[in-house]
Amino acid sequence: MKSITNQPIARPTYVEVDLDRLKTNYQAIKQAVGRRGIIPVVKANAYGHGLKEVARLFEALRPPGLAVAFLEEGVALREAGISVPVLVMGGLDHAQIDGFLDYNLTMTVSSLDSPVEIETAAARRERTVRLQVKVDTGMGRMGIRPEEAIQLFEAITASPFLEIVAVYSHFATADEPDRTQTEDQIQTFREVVSYFRRAGLPTPTLHFANSGAILQHSASYFDQVRPGIMLYGVYPTEQVDKTVEIVPALTWKSKVVLTKRQPAGCPVSYGATWAPDHDTRIATIPMGYGDGYPRRLSNRGQVLIRGSRYPIVGRVCMDQFVVEIGPNADVETGDEVVIIGTQGDETITADQVSGWARTIPYEILSGIGERVPRRYTNQT
Ligand SMILES: *Cc1c(COP(=O)(O)O)cnc(C)c1O
Repeated sequence: MKSITNQPIARPTYVEVDLDRLKTNYQAIKQAVGRRGIIPVVKANAYGHGLKEVARLFEALRPPGLAVAFLEEGVALREAGISVPVLVMGGLDHAQIDGFLDYNLTMTVSSLDSPVEIETAAARRERTVRLQVKVDTGMGRMGIRPEEAIQLFEAITASPFLEIVAVYSHFATADEPDRTQTEDQIQTFREVVSYFRRAGLPTPTLHFANSGAILQHSASYFDQVRPGIMLYGVYPTEQVDKTVEIVPALTWKSKVVLTKRQPAGCPVSYGATWAPDHDTRIATIPMGYGDGYPRRLSNRGQVLIRGSRYPIVGRVCMDQFVVEIGPNADVETGDEVVIIGTQGDETITADQVSGWARTIPYEILSGIGERVPRRYTNQT
């Protein structure tokens, strides 16, 4: 479906990504972090923006690497011809170790069991495996506990087949106003990685900062930073210090496929949750939760048509939803509908949509479905 671009078949619902804006955001982050490397995070289909195209754009900016969550995402990058180092940040399933080696993808090691398994696979191939170690400094998810980290460093360092290229960690609260946990996490990380200096070993590359930390904690920059959401032009939260100026790169559009009269008292959509108390007009939009547009937006969301906001009425369905355009609205079948983005003087942000849906912009963007074609503008 994604390859269908000829007009008679093209879906009226699509996402448009401005590649030049992704580049602008990358450069704005570069400006903020100075000599540090940027590892663009392109997991979850590049936060819904399209994995391959976005990875190609970032690769051209010569980052030290890219990061994804899962092996399969790394494989997709290799199959798209991406050749920079790719870090897979998610948990390591030992059954996938050969996959990492076949595709030259960098594993994240978080446990003492892993080096043994990786070494067996490396020895079989008579090659060295360069891996990254993740330390749990307070996120409480992936990563080895600080008190066990030294043992892991020693196990890897002792192996002729394994090499630690980087040590990293992840923040739990870097985008929040309270700085306490983030500062504690940085302190713990510094203590853990001081092992290398004390052991007379070169310190591997260190990286820690996600978008929230890039915006609010310059002490977290170390050698490289790992921005995700910021690269796409969206702040991790509305309240975060907006110390780097970024621009949203994604617009989500659709088209009115039907307008009609809706008499007073006649309900709209499943469950008959809404009916007008006056004679009005409605418009049907051909997209729904099957495209990742949350059902939570039923009777809550808004869209733009001809530069004006219109409310969603009734339930969002799998493939369509309805907006009330009012008795005299100047809206016709075929009009462009903006779901996220700007039209005329009005803008709907991913942040607004996520607020209406009681979630975060990450979930809205990464949830935009496979069924929605992506188009790219300003390709350089
Ligand atoms: C997703 C992720 C990031 C990027 O986070 P943003 O908040 O989008 O900047 C960085 N590091 C890890 C480990 C992640 O899982």
